[in-house]
Amino acid sequence: MDEVGFRGLLGHERTATVLRRAVAGGRLHHASLFTGPSGVGKRIAARALAALLQCEQRPVSDGLPDACGTCPHCRRVRDGIHPDVIDVSPDGRFIRIEQVRELTASTRFRPYEGRVRVVIVHGAEAMKAESANALLKTLEEPGGETVFILLSDRPHQLLPTIRSRCQPVRFARLDRQTVVDLLRREGVSAAEAEVLAELGDGSVGDALAFRASALADERTALLALLARAPSLGADQCLVEAERLASQRERLESLLLLAQSLYRDALVVHASGGRLDRCINRDALDSVQTLARHRSPAHLHQDAARVREAARQLEGNVNPRLVMESLLIELSRPERRAI
Ligand SMILES: [Zn+2]
Repeated sequence: MDEVGFRGLLGHERTATVLRRAVAGGRLHHASLFTGPSGVGKRIAARALAALLQCEQRPVSDGLPDACGTCPHCRRVRDGIHPDVIDVSPDGRFIRIEQVRELTASTRFRPYEGRVRVVIVHGAEAMKAESANALLKTLEEPGGETVFILLSDRPHQLLPTIRSRCQPVRFARLDRQTVVDLLRREGVSAAEAEVLAELGDGSVGDALAFRASALADERTALLALLARAPSLGADQCLVEAERLASQRERLESLLLLAQSLYRDALVVHASGGRLDRCINRDALDSVQTLARHRSPAHLHQDAARVREAARQLEGNVNPRLVMESLLIELSRPERRAI
């Protein structure tokens, strides 16, 4: 069962302290804007704040109140059925004016059973000018009984007037270990969590999205191919290039991910064969194969070639031509000093 309350928010202790202190002192701004990359915990923080505002118990830990997690209010917030915690999310690409009107109408009444009414606006940047202006009126007239929490991955797309009415609360990328811990809680194996944490770049959401995407299997296959590129014949290069070119829309991302293979092989060289510092822990065979066949100088060249190929794809060069020339370059034998 998901834990509701700030105990369940990992990696944002300082931000949590600021919010809990504001609630304890009765100084919470009536409108907060939670910003930061997707998948780092903004939604969990909003839920924790809503629970804390509604909680009957508010037990104190570390000198500050948190939601108890067990009272009827906390349980309803956790289950998403609290009548005074209203979630608004984009309907398709946008938050429609009707959604905002419905919302502002409900804020004219007293909360049903909670201390306050909490309105959580997910993807707040999805409000077009019309919707944003409708919300703005409500934000300008705080009734004292409604707390707004706006969440946005792209706050620069919000109307400046909305931004200026809100107290900004910034959520940074998570550190690597926190992402690993959170992935482990989701039932991801230790080895896979290490790799996903690297790919997720501080975002649990992105790491999990990567895991669910077709990219995951294709990445493993590409790493294996690049590792044996030094022993590919010209015919094989052409066949593989054609196959890869059919993954056109994901190819650029795949190549960017694959750069870490060269980094890992260089680390293996530099550390005398150690594998524990590798990013691609799920593909150590590929890392070792590449390190065996290529000198550090050659690895640097190959990494640059992969980068250049990704750049060409970005520039809309024919993917098949890009991949053919990349694989042929990568299959060139290492030039030995005589
Ligand atoms: Zn409670």
